Amino acid sequence: EAMIGVLALQGDVAEHARLIGRAGGETRPVRRARELTGLAGLIIPGGESTTIGKLLVVFELYDELRAAIKDGLPVLGTCAGMIMLADRIVGGTEDQRTLGGIDMVTRRNAFGRQVDSFEADLDVRGLDDPFRAVFIRAPWVERVGPGVEVLASYQGHPVAVRQGNLWATSFHPELTGDPRLHAAFLSAAAVQ
Ligand code: GLN
Repeated sequence: EAMIGVLALQGDVAEHARLIGRAGGETRPVRRARELTGLAGLIIPGGESTTIGKLLVVFELYDELRAAIKDGLPVLGTCAGMIMLADRIVGGTEDQRTLGGIDMVTRRNAFGRQVDSFEADLDVRGLDDPFRAVFIRAPWVERVGPGVEVLASYQGHPVAVRQGNLWATSFHPELTGDPRLHAAFLSAAAVQ
């Protein structure tokens, strides 16, 4: 069975684990570089991307995770996790570091402070019915390179993308109990 790691430095670790379980996979929390070994895939939950970037360094995970991504580890990044997978960001702090991997520019807190959070039904490529998406101080994707597939957009901005083994959503797919996105990621990760 495919073992999916959930980066457990911040965010909805338990909810992601529950949905991977519902999709038929197993999970374990990842806090140390050695815990990356043998994973079929990894989820980077939401939280605060500046903090996640710092914690990755503190936990000596930053270089190892970058190397694993380069080697083809499938990763699903949600919200702050999307920011972590972006090659470039706007609206970050000066010293903010991402892991990169997806050829895109992502804007932090893109939907503005007056709408800190909201929900929307999104058409997602590959899913038959709309997906209820929860956005919380969410980023959007401002520009994508030619290798990036846009899976969903909201108000003209990509909010779910995929480049090869790397998947990212602006929203929190773990918060509504709908396992379809986790299932899609899991089945892609399982065949790697
Ligand atoms: N605004 C956060 C950031 O910039 C992301 C919010 C979230 O993950 N819910 O990192």
